[in-house]
Amino acid sequence: MEQICPLCNGLQEYEVECEECKGKMIDKGRMSDYYDNYSSYLDMNITELIDGVQSDKCVHLFSCSDCKNDKRITIDKVIK
Ligand SMILES: [Zn+2]
Ligand SMILES: [Zn+2]
Repeated sequence: MEQICPLCNGLQEYEVECEECKGKMIDKGRMSDYYDNYSSYLDMNITELIDGVQSDKCVHLFSCSDCKNDKRITIDKVIK
């Protein structure tokens, strides 16, 4: 039994309405990918929080295509 993220695996499209401009926010990928790249800029508390969440949740970064507003969305993983 394996839990996978439906967004990372292309099983599901996820659209979020932008709180700022009501535009469409699009998935920019896994938050942990960003943390891997930029981990040196973050303090340990944030990194630990993300690690703790990773087991059955996947945190994605969404960005508005109109106003560039960013938002983190926690995605529930599904059983494969
Ligand atoms: Zn994911
Ligand atoms: Zn927007």
